[in-house]
Amino acid sequence: MNNIQLIPADYVPSKDCLQDKVILVTGAGDGIGREAALCFATHGACVILLGKTESKLADVYDEIVDKGHPTPALCPFDLKQTDYKAYSALKKAITEEFGKLDGILHNAGALGELSSIASYNPNTWFDTMQVNVNAQFLLTKAFLPLLQKSSSASIVFTSSSVGRKGRAYWGAYAVSKFATEGLMQTLADELEKTGNIRCNCINPGATRTHMRAKAYPAENPDEVAPASVLMPAYLYLMGDKSKSINGQSFDAQKK
Ligand code: NDP
Repeated sequence: MNNIQLIPADYVPSKDCLQDKVILVTGAGDGIGREAALCFATHGACVILLGKTESKLADVYDEIVDKGHPTPALCPFDLKQTDYKAYSALKKAITEEFGKLDGILHNAGALGELSSIASYNPNTWFDTMQVNVNAQFLLTKAFLPLLQKSSSASIVFTSSSVGRKGRAYWGAYAVSKFATEGLMQTLADELEKTGNIRCNCINPGATRTHMRAKAYPAENPDEVAPASVLMPAYLYLMGDKSKSINGQSFDAQKK
């Protein structure tokens, strides 16, 4: 495992740090993805809102438009789909509409079930691995040619502390996050010489969302950080201040 990084202590995002960038955010309808999509738009990006539930994406769309930020794009898409043709078609549609892509935040995630490996439901295992890892591969593969057209593109994968050290009963979720770190490192090594695309991982740390509440039902949500706390790290990795950083694993929150 790489040394875990924190963003520079003196980093302050400028208001226009994502100006004119086109950024795809997965899981943009809820939780951390919703906050990131709104935050990227506030900082000048045109955000492509990808997620499962169209009504949630529409709410984010309306909020961005109401605030006068760059008009986003709605992209209802189920990441459980395994057929590469669906990902290719998505890339074709986005290419026609925007002509380029400057970033992907791979944020959508499924918790799966919290149980032992011995009793884990195989179908839940496959679904969790599909949404958390395989879909990231399929999306990344489809969009790499479009990212090549950007002068400075960033791919951000979402990790977790259980993807750095295994933990009992976290099953496919933990394994998928280890795989995410591996996908990021493998891709980063391949991209090292291309110059214009970088990729890194971010571990949000405990964050007040539906997923967190499902994983820790007895926890008082008021004692968990809201997603807004993470945003400087997300802006740093998506913006050009991190242009030279590739293949690293970041924590969004200090321990
Ligand atoms: P939420 O459950 O709040 O949001 C998950 C998002 O992923 C939702 O927008 C959901 O869409 C989307 N999603 C899930 N399944 C699919 C699918 N099949 N197709 C398309 N979109 C899908 O989770 P968080 O915001 O908490 O998590 C965001 C990321 O951060 C995840 O990768 C998670 O593993 C990671 N993380 C979170 C931590 C935390 O404490 N919250 C800690 C460490 C990591 P919809 O709402 O439409 O179902």
